[in-house]
Amino acid sequence: MTTKSREESVKVMARVRPMNSREISSNCVKCVHILSEQSLSIGEGTEERQFTFDFVFDESHSQQFIYETSSYDIVESVFQGYNGTIFAYGQTGCGKTHTMLGDPASETGRGVLPRCFFHCRAIQLGETGRQFLLRVSFLEIYNEQVFDLLTPGRERREVKEAPGTGVFVKDLAMLPASSLEEMLRLLDRGTKARAVAETAMNKESSRSHCIFTVHVEAADTPAGQPRFTASKLNLVDLAGSERSDRTHAQGDRLKEGAKINLSLTALGNVIKALVDGKAKHVPYRDSKLTRILQDSLGGNTRTLMLAAISPASDSFEETLSTLKFT
Ligand code: ADP
Ligand code: MG
Repeated sequence: MTTKSREESVKVMARVRPMNSREISSNCVKCVHILSEQSLSIGEGTEERQFTFDFVFDESHSQQFIYETSSYDIVESVFQGYNGTIFAYGQTGCGKTHTMLGDPASETGRGVLPRCFFHCRAIQLGETGRQFLLRVSFLEIYNEQVFDLLTPGRERREVKEAPGTGVFVKDLAMLPASSLEEMLRLLDRGTKARAVAETAMNKESSRSHCIFTVHVEAADTPAGQPRFTASKLNLVDLAGSERSDRTHAQGDRLKEGAKINLSLTALGNVIKALVDGKAKHVPYRDSKLTRILQDSLGGNTRTLMLAAISPASDSFEETLSTLKFT
């Protein structure tokens, strides 16, 4: 798929992480080669395949550069009233969480989420003509069930649909985030709730999707009349895309894997239908993930998919499937 066929509102970028010590010590070679800022190849000789992106990041690109190139414009447009969604996609260990979260406490290490918070605050403080109310929610989708990461006890929530409102998560906590510190604190609280549940249920975070949403309400008075607009920014850390038949999952793990793949497959189908532009039916209803994000994907919204990949030869199959997904 080339960038030319894509709708302006959907951008797909790739980030190739450095080889890790395990890959180096097991004598992996690099099977991914960056050809330009817009293209990369995988495989050698007659097996070689090339893929085009809106941008390809390599290990030399800083978290800040990645933010500015990929996410900055989306956050700006959220404050102009558009919904926006940023995903990280790829197999476990390829750099999704590093890209989305990174180390929030480190100026150079922080990822897309904390940088969005700084950016939101800067816009909020910098605009004098409009007033903004920011609230945040944080949910986890595990096994096609939705959990609220900002309530004590990580309560289960239902996805509902109402005329006029559309699809929403009933009773999901939406907490005011009136300062940068408060946003970071809520992010930290939800991340810890997720980790506690993992330990209790003997699972890893790589098996669940999570969506951190910044809800922006703006008020201004053009021509003396009060006007309100609402928009949201969804920041999504997806479950690992590896296939369960390769990780030899059985029983519950296998069922879980199938459900994770269901959400990812549904997301891939939705993105493909949107990119295609001509598809009459966009299959939002096929999974919890795509239902919840329905009003933030396609139409008058901005979407960014960041494909995180390992360059190592032993991830060849998974990387190829990540590249094909986008
Ligand atoms: P995922 O969330 O996709 O499972 P992680 O983001 O947790 O993967 O990354 C796995 C490990 O690789 C982490 O220790 C992370 O710090 C490291 N890592 C990932 N991407 C990069 C990168 N671009 N540069 C340096 N280290 C990275
Ligand atoms: Mg992760």
